[in-house]
Formats: sequence, C-alpha cells, structure tokens
Amino acid sequence: MAEISPSVAELVRRVASQEVSCEEKTIHRLARIPRIDRDIHAFLHLATDRATKKAREIDRRAKKGERLGRLAGVAIAVKDNICVSAMPATCGSKILEGFVPPYDATVIQRIEAEDGIVLGKTNMDEFAMGNTTQASAFGPTKNPWNLERVPGGSSGGSAAAVSAGMSTLALGTDTGGSVRCPASFCSVLGLKPTYGTVSRYGVIPYANSLEQVGQFARRVSDLALLYDVVSGHDPRDSTSVTSPKARKSSGGFKGKRVGIVTEFFGEGTKDGVRRKVLDASEKFREMGAKVEETHVESMEYALAAYYVIAMAEASSNLSRYDGVRYGASTEKGTADWNAAFAKTRTECFGPEVKRRILLGSYVLSAGYYEAYYLKAQSARGLLRRAFEKAFKSYDILLGPTMPVLPPRIGEKVTPLEDYMIDINTVPANLVGLPALSIPAGFVEGLPVGMQLMAPHFGEHLLFEAAQSYEDAVGVPGAKE
Ligand code: GLN
Repeated sequence: MAEISPSVAELVRRVASQEVSCEEKTIHRLARIPRIDRDIHAFLHLATDRATKKAREIDRRAKKGERLGRLAGVAIAVKDNICVSAMPATCGSKILEGFVPPYDATVIQRIEAEDGIVLGKTNMDEFAMGNTTQASAFGPTKNPWNLERVPGGSSGGSAAAVSAGMSTLALGTDTGGSVRCPASFCSVLGLKPTYGTVSRYGVIPYANSLEQVGQFARRVSDLALLYDVVSGHDPRDSTSVTSPKARKSSGGFKGKRVGIVTEFFGEGTKDGVRRKVLDASEKFREMGAKVEETHVESMEYALAAYYVIAMAEASSNLSRYDGVRYGASTEKGTADWNAAFAKTRTECFGPEVKRRILLGSYVLSAGYYEAYYLKAQSARGLLRRAFEKAFKSYDILLGPTMPVLPPRIGEKVTPLEDYMIDINTVPANLVGLPALSIPAGFVEGLPVGMQLMAPHFGEHLLFEAAQSYEDAVGVPGAKE
C-alpha cells in the first residue's frame, strides 16, 4: 500500500504557492496512468491535451499571483456518461461510439471554474446498467485490490481510478447504487447526494427519477469539497432544487443517534461483511454517539420497485438511440427507416440493455401498467414514509453497502442474482435520500464498505459521521 497522498487543500496550497509546477505534475501523472491502467482498464479516454493546457494556465496564473480556484491543479476522472466537450462520451456502449458532445455538463463547468483538471473519461457498465462494470462494451475494469475481481459498478472506472491513485477525485452517477457499490468494492468514499442537489444537465440519462451525479474521494474533507463545488441550483436542470445548499459540517459526532438497520443485514449477507460493518459501527459508539438496532418498514419491496421503475424509465430514455441522431449506425443510407433502426439497435446494444428495454416496455404497456409500474410507485410511497418515520428517531441509518464481497470477473450469475446485491443501495434512490459508502476494512483481503444514510439535504450529517470515523481509523490508502 502506498503512502497516503496529501489532502486537496494541501495540493491546492502547493500549486498556488508555486512549490510545485502544476504542468509538471500533470504531465507526470498522465505518463504514469497508462502503466497502471494496463492492468486495471479504468479509463476509456485520457484528455492529455486539455489537462496539460489547463495545468499550464494554472501555473501562469499562480505566477502572476492571481486567486486560484478551490480545486486548482487537482485531477478528476469523469464517468463516460457525463458530457465533456470535445471528448468522446460512449456510456460504455457501442451505440454511442464516435459521439463527441459539443458542450460541458454543468458539473464539469463548475469543476473547471474552480480550476480542477479533467483527466479523462472512465469505464462503466453500458448505460450505467449493472454493478460490476463487466457490461461495458469496451471490456471490464478490474479491481485494483485483486485483479481477478470486479471493481463494482456501474461507475467502476471512476472508483478504480481513485483507488489505484491514478486520480485524486472522480465523478460517477448513482441510479441504484452505482457510486456506492464501486466505492465499497474499491475501498474509497462514494457519495450519492440528495435528489435534486447536483445538476444533471449534460448527463446522459438512465432513469431520471432515481439518479444523481455522485462523487468519489479518499478523504472526507476532499469529498465534501467536491460535493460543495458541484452542487447547487442549475436552471438548466428542471429537477434541480432551489433550496439552499446543505449545511456545513459542524464537526463532532457526540450525542448523535445512529440506527443500525436490521433489514440491511438480511438473508444473503456474507458473515464476514456483517461482522466488519458491526465492528465499524462500534466506532460510532466509542465516539459518543447513541447507537442501537432499528427497523425500517416496507424495505422488502424496495428491490422489485426499483427494478420496475428503473427499467420503465430506461426503456423510454433509450428510444432516442436510432442510429441517426447520435453515435453509431450500422445501416447508413438505407431507404427502410424501420429496418435500419432495428439493425443498429440489435447490433449496437448489449444483452443487459436489451433485456431492460424489453422489460421496461412491458411494465409500461396497457394492461400491465397498473399491475407493475403503478404498484412499484406505491411501494415507493410506502418506503418514503418508512424512512421519514425512521429519521424522526435517528440522524444516521447504517448497514453494509453491499451484502457480498466483490465477485470474481466472469462469474456466472443469473440477472436476478446480479440485481439482488443492490438490495441495500436502491432504497436511497427510491426515496431521494443522501447516502455515503465509507471503507470499513477488509475481509479475505477484499474491501468492505459501510453505508450511512441521512435525511434529505443531510449531507453535512454524513460528512460529520464519516469525518469522525476517519479521525478514529485513519485515511484509507490507495492500492498502487
Ligand atoms: N445496479 C443498478 C442497476 O443496474 C444500479 C445502477 C446505477 O446506479 N446506475 O440498475
């Protein structure tokens, strides 16, 4: 394990005081990445020119004594479903091969306005559908802690890039766990913010009512800073909230009420994972929090409701890929539009995406809409009320992020078995709550993550809890 890298605040100080040359550091980093990434395959695209140009500009401004942004010179990896102008955006799919968005997502504009350096685009499950990154059309990403294991998904490339020390920070998206799952499997921090707090303008959609742009980091202070930079109202995203940003963390965790949710330790939870998370939760007690077991009602409906809603929204979102407007087409110039449309979609979508388009169209079709889609929406309502009730008694709810250890690459499982490991992450998306996965240690040499959940706009509570935990156990190292 390599030495812990300095905090973002310290990196920015060094660049601003010209102790280090941002350009030299960036060139060095960009030269190192291909050597590390040969084994891991976290990146789909490296933005060498854009990153070095930005670094040079930062050095020039530092020399003139100009004020630099809060992320000056800090490397950020970006999931490949977030648009960055003049860089490819494939979403891990053949159907978007060759598509280069002409504009930056709001999150990218905000990062660059604070002088962050976009390193490149990271690998993901096709259209963010999955939890292993094996469903990428461009080959799987490997877990830096064990190259035979998956890094989690769907933002597996972003988590692996931070975990292996290739990037200091990263962005992902989380529709049902896609930031928290890979954070957990790669031993880094991963935040899924409150619905509506981070703009999705320029983010290629999977399931709009569930997803948020999430952040990865190794230190809590860095994660909180990145969240602060990218969050806030954006008039270009109609789901962006206008309420004030989440409060700043006040430090300290003494006297806080922590509920260990029994339902998060259900059937299928691996013993080692259960023990690790319970041990880690003991730390909160030692820090003076009031920790006890509790229940959240209606949790048994969460997984089914999530998959019905996510697939329904996906089937509608994916109808835009017709081989004409974006990216790839395997049948250019044919007169029969229907045949061309079908051929491109048949050849360019992977099997998981097709399965979801079929199931999503089915649950929305006349006759089944009430039985599936509407039922899922009412389950969502029940779950919302159950969490409202739980948060009357607790500041933080806790459990394992993933019930299992990172699976082996290529391990044969049925789609249902694959979906089941999302059981603890999907409730936060259904209800719009903020949730954070923090490293809780290792079992059999593999990372285990602990999920903390807070009420809407309670990100400061998550940062407070995670900071106290980090103060107690230290910053997790990178696997370099
Ligand atoms: N694994 C979940 C799914 O496939 C979550 C994916 C995500 O959060 N993007 O739907």
